[in-house]
Amino acid sequence: MADIIKLLPDHVANQIAAGEVVQRPASVVKELLENAIDAGATIIKLIVKDGGKNLIQVVDNGKGMSATDARLSFERHATSKIQKAEDLFNLNTKGFRGEALASIAAIAHVELLTKTDLDEVGTQLKIEGSKVISQEVTVTPKGTSMLVKNLFFNIPARRNFLKSNQVELRHITDEFHRVALAHPNIAFHFYNNGSELFNLPVVNFRKRIVQVFGGKANSKLVPVNEETQVVKISGFVKKPEFAKKSRGEQFFFVNDRFIKSPYLHHAIVAAFEGLIKTNTYPGYFLCLEVDPGTIDINIHPTKTEVKFDDEHTLYALLRSTVKHSLGQFSVVPSIDFEQDPNLDTPYSYKNKEAKVPHVTVDASFNPFANDDVAIPKSSSTTKSTSYTNYSKPNTKGWENLYEGLESKKEEDISFSSMEFESEVITGSIFKEENAVEEPATTTFQLRRKYIVTTIKSGMVVIDQGRAHQRVLYEKFLKNITIQEAVSQQLLFPLTMHFSTSDIAILKEIQGQLITIGFAFKIVGKDVVEITGVPLQVAESEVEMILEQLILDYQMQISGDSFSQTDSLAKTLSKTLSVKTGTVLDAASQQALVNDLFACKEPTLSPFKKPTYVTITENDIDKKFI
Ligand code: ADP
Ligand code: MG
Repeated sequence: MADIIKLLPDHVANQIAAGEVVQRPASVVKELLENAIDAGATIIKLIVKDGGKNLIQVVDNGKGMSATDARLSFERHATSKIQKAEDLFNLNTKGFRGEALASIAAIAHVELLTKTDLDEVGTQLKIEGSKVISQEVTVTPKGTSMLVKNLFFNIPARRNFLKSNQVELRHITDEFHRVALAHPNIAFHFYNNGSELFNLPVVNFRKRIVQVFGGKANSKLVPVNEETQVVKISGFVKKPEFAKKSRGEQFFFVNDRFIKSPYLHHAIVAAFEGLIKTNTYPGYFLCLEVDPGTIDINIHPTKTEVKFDDEHTLYALLRSTVKHSLGQFSVVPSIDFEQDPNLDTPYSYKNKEAKVPHVTVDASFNPFANDDVAIPKSSSTTKSTSYTNYSKPNTKGWENLYEGLESKKEEDISFSSMEFESEVITGSIFKEENAVEEPATTTFQLRRKYIVTTIKSGMVVIDQGRAHQRVLYEKFLKNITIQEAVSQQLLFPLTMHFSTSDIAILKEIQGQLITIGFAFKIVGKDVVEITGVPLQVAESEVEMILEQLILDYQMQISGDSFSQTDSLAKTLSKTLSVKTGTVLDAASQQALVNDLFACKEPTLSPFKKPTYVTITENDIDKKFI
């Protein structure tokens, strides 16, 4: 048989390698930022357009490249950072694999401008899909500008696989955060579609965290410092009360490199044990300095996984150091710096006016006219559905306080059903008025979880949480679609702080939030003033709900407006629905049953779980055989 094995041509090999290095625009951003840092830059500019799909540019004032190096830099395994295998164990640079530029050039249009200090003139190089299009002498300042256009232009399958611009931009922002946090001694600028997202002057680590996450972050930080022979630990953890239900704001940097380590993450979680609720995650920004010879970064092409020689010791040290810091912070005031208004990230929305919400309110409405729930009675709100008779949980009877405890004891409530509530709530979701004429008791509540009701052929067992989710979900969807929300205006607007990236998301979904009854203004770079909330939402829940909405929005895979609406309605229904453990009075049970069966799709919760089961007479008969 003839020989059939052939060496792959370079451009094909590069394309294959690119698959490992470049998953999405954010991977390019990471590699280019790292190259700029390795080049000793003190100012780095990142410019992206259309979520990085069409343009990513990184401009640095680093050492630049000679004409020959410029050409060589795009060869695979071409690097100035290591020369021999041993160098791998003494790394002081971000890069060392010498494959990033080769990979990027294989799957995009690249334009490089670069000049060293020694050269009079610089080099301009254009490469498309590994093919050199032109190389010219040019006038350019010292440093390097790397422009990457039309990512995956020659691999349509990969390009189509990219998410919406917003989602890709978020991934880029995440990478930017990681690099910017690791290098507070470098100034960063980040522009998206022509507007400045971040302008971060050189500061210390604490101030960099504040620049990135907003002014409010400062007061949440507890310093962590420890120096041993194995490792130097420095940085901050967030106070336990700011632990979030979502991941994010968890940063480990090892020798200035952002890394992911579930093992070390666990050490921090262990240090927070007993201080935070289950299902919440502590926030941390921790820098570890270790001897480069004791770690191996060479595990993964994206270089975010690191193997430590002595992981166990590191785990133990981290845990005890963080624990110690947490113990101290309540006694010793944390070192603070003067709040400098210029510190906050100048965000692109800084000078933009927030749109005035168009929720109509009855000007003559007097909240003191009766002691009922404050429902504005404007024309747009009078058409409200039966849910206007919602009332806040009834906690008048002190006995209620015990009901929850009791149910906790006797029931093994699953964790999943407790995602949003760690305490059991009691009360009625529907107005008590209905209870005046006691409806014929055709329903009863089983284990504060199910509602049982009879039907002709037998009985129906309804999961109260899921049923309520379905009811709320359809209602919110309807409100969003026909724009007929019921909003309660707050007497005293609530002021809340969010990170600048959260603010950007709030801006994106502002229109939809208004249609479901939220009214708010973005009044500062990181401050939101809330003047109205949907009728079903209690003031105390607003922050939690908005955070959940932001999180879910971030997680959502596609960015089209239908799914945005849908995921908003889902989040709200999940957050606001009654939970397992809630005692419902007869009227509420009845109302829930009626509302569920008035739904378009009563059988399933918005998350596609069954809302009820029917048990027929026949089923019961069989049990008696
Ligand atoms: P690596 O960073 O692993 O060495 P890259 O493919 O990212 O591999 O880069 C190849 C080489 O190109 C680098 O080793 C460096 O010498 C040079 N280079 C890349 N980007 C820059 C830059 N912004 N400034 C100066 N030199 C650069
Ligand atoms: Mg590199």
